[in-house]
Amino acid sequence: GFRMGIVGLPNVGKSTLFNALTRTAAAQAANFPFCTIEPNVGEVAVPDARLDKLAEIAKSKEIIPTRMTFVDIAGLVKGASKGEGLGNQFLANIREVDAIAHVLRCFEDGDVTHVEGRVNPVEDAQTIETELMLADMESIEKRLQNIVRKVRGGDKEAVQQERLMKAAMEALEAGQPARTVEVDAEDAKAWKMLQLLTTKPILYVCNVGEDEAAEGNEHSAAVAEMAAEQGAASVVISAKIEEEISQLDAEEQAMFLDELGLEQAGLDRLIKAGYDLLHLQTYFTVGPKEARAWTIKEGTAAPQAAGVIHGDFERGFIRAETIAYDDYIALGGENGAKDAGKMRAEGKSYVVKDGDVLHFLFNA
Ligand code: GDP
Repeated sequence: GFRMGIVGLPNVGKSTLFNALTRTAAAQAANFPFCTIEPNVGEVAVPDARLDKLAEIAKSKEIIPTRMTFVDIAGLVKGASKGEGLGNQFLANIREVDAIAHVLRCFEDGDVTHVEGRVNPVEDAQTIETELMLADMESIEKRLQNIVRKVRGGDKEAVQQERLMKAAMEALEAGQPARTVEVDAEDAKAWKMLQLLTTKPILYVCNVGEDEAAEGNEHSAAVAEMAAEQGAASVVISAKIEEEISQLDAEEQAMFLDELGLEQAGLDRLIKAGYDLLHLQTYFTVGPKEARAWTIKEGTAAPQAAGVIHGDFERGFIRAETIAYDDYIALGGENGAKDAGKMRAEGKSYVVKDGDVLHFLFNA
């Protein structure tokens, strides 16, 4: 599955957010108890109203949403790249995530100490980015030394790695994160293998005061501007409110959101934003037993999409009976779609579209 790492300076609301995410009724909805894999790792359901509609039409007994994993990565402080705070372990945790949810303190509260003694999320973001850039530089330096011999020996892979690491280093030395480096398609895989921290896509999570969750505030506005400049994403939430919401049942939640002038829980928006940031999309498998959502990257071909369910589905792939979501709904389900000629047989090269309802045929 896909993993988002929650990072941020101490006291910005990371734990509050993580707890809200993993305890919320939405995470536990529809026979899907959130599960804590480790104390700081939780899986949450990706909210998707389409799944409920499909299940209703197919009279599915069970509804199984797709999931996203969140990892609470504590311990980033100024100097982390030098091994201060939780230092190295922290950095190792970040290497393993697909994207970073960077929580920024945008709330004013004299009772909660800010490590820098002032609220300035844009500077905080830079503080953390700087640590990540320093860590990348250090790891590149080490690795460049380690492959010197191989490069001299003409090892093709090593030569490619060296070239990419030098490109990253050039950006980092100029004060730019490695994600600003343009990478050719043929280098994409090797680039990813470098596992640089500053190549991970970033979602800035502006943690605002309880009465600012709907509109945000001047701090979150400054973050939104910064995010736009960087091509990063940003969302406004109040971790405190999300924590309260997470303790309510669905009906109470709706009332509470209404009172606050919010259309959707912040956590739903956060998960959605993470999904968009990672260019993820959803397809469905629907039947009387269960209606289930599956996550794939945009651009995934049918056999690889099938592989998300089971490796055998990919290996033995024959074809995918495909109904577009809108057709499925408009024509009242599978039979209606079939009768209207809207069920297509798609082969190996078919690129799955968001919302497709799929049934895979495969050689066992
Ligand atoms: P972490 O160190 O980043 O994990 O931060 P915590 O989640 O432990 O929060 C630090 C402190 O800030 C706690 O006392 C929280 O109750 C408080 N806090 C978190 N979010 C908010 C918020 O939105 N508003 C206010 N006023 N306090 C918050």
